[in-house]
Amino acid sequence: MAPRDSGILQGEKTDSQGAGKLGALLMSCSKILIIGSGITGLSCAGKLADAGLNVMVLDKGRGVGGRLATKRTRCGRQFDHGAQYVTARAPNFHAVLRSMRAAATVDVWEAGAPEPHFVGVPGMSGLPKHLVTGLDVSQNTTVETVGARDGGWTVTTQTDSLAASHVVVTTPAPQITPLIGVDHPLTRRLLSVEMAPCLTLMAAFKDGQPIPFTSKRMPQQPLSWIAYNSSKPSRLSQGCWVAQASVDWSVENLERDNAELAELMLPMLCAQIGADPSAAQYVAAHRWRYARSTSPLGEPFLRDNSRTLYLGGDWCIGPRVEAGWISGRAIADDILKRI
Ligand SMILES: Cc1cc2nc3c(=O)[nH]c(=O)nc-3n(C[C@H](O)[C@H](O)[C@H](O)COP(=O)(O)OP(=O)(O)OC[C@H]3O[C@@H](n4cnc5c(N)ncnc54)[C@H](O)[C@@H]3O)c2cc1C
Repeated sequence: MAPRDSGILQGEKTDSQGAGKLGALLMSCSKILIIGSGITGLSCAGKLADAGLNVMVLDKGRGVGGRLATKRTRCGRQFDHGAQYVTARAPNFHAVLRSMRAAATVDVWEAGAPEPHFVGVPGMSGLPKHLVTGLDVSQNTTVETVGARDGGWTVTTQTDSLAASHVVVTTPAPQITPLIGVDHPLTRRLLSVEMAPCLTLMAAFKDGQPIPFTSKRMPQQPLSWIAYNSSKPSRLSQGCWVAQASVDWSVENLERDNAELAELMLPMLCAQIGADPSAAQYVAAHRWRYARSTSPLGEPFLRDNSRTLYLGGDWCIGPRVEAGWISGRAIADDILKRI
């Protein structure tokens, strides 16, 4: 396993020095299972692993990162079809991104914005790939239930049953209730959280098509965000655009199939960038059913009475990558404080 660089910085309170001996002891008797390898799960797992705890991350996806995602096509095109860029308001998170920039896994996208827009390189997935180094992650592992048993937890997947002393669930909020059960006391706390979908178009054009802007936000339009993906640093392919539908349009068209969505969204994109739809060489749509929290919880995580089940994610604080990172770190701090 490669050595870890979780982005913990000199001077950041890690608890790892103090927890070193305790961590070694706990390694032998407890296991912390983290469900989800998005930014929340990775930020939590990294801090706990650095404190010497026995941590394993489970994710149903083929790659790590969740909504920090990059799609690579067979013909070599590349699209950031989830989060477009990352901003940092908390000094700690800013410092983490700077350290990733020094490691050449993150760069700044010169998009003309006042605050730096950090992007993973060569795609957004470069960022979670950096954070996952040295962590024990099981991909293609769908968790089906999380249940209390013998003073700990049993997590069932499609093939296994795993025992844990602590469980941290970091999936989007609406996906938590099926795991912990409708009767779990924390389920009630999730009722106030709302998440909106986002339908996303990826399109690549042959050379010679116009590039009138690198990004454009149009909150009142059916396509509310358009970005020239190839203008981000270190992108491997030219001519690639990403467009996101507004919340209203996404809700209205959520159940259409992907081919139909691509057919509807391509002319809208072409009208904005002045391209000829027949010049598109690759077109695909992606459905994010739970893209962004529109009504967040308002606190960094939820914890049950046993203090061993934690729920976290961007939905706790707001619809940003940084919110997930803060939630994950807050959970790790709480676990470290209590053991
Ligand atoms: C289209 C789009 C554009 C966005 N743009 C931006 C932006 O420009 N800037 C920004 O800061 N934020 C943006 N966001 C929001 C940002 O992506 C999220 O805030 C952040 O990535 C959430 O991270 P997370 O770890 O909380 O959740 P996720 O990234 O959703 O991670 C949850 C993980 O849980 C896994 N999972 C779910 N259920 C199970 C299960 N049963 N078993 C195992 N694993 C499971 C999933 O596979 C996933 O990997 C955007 C989001 C979308 C969708």
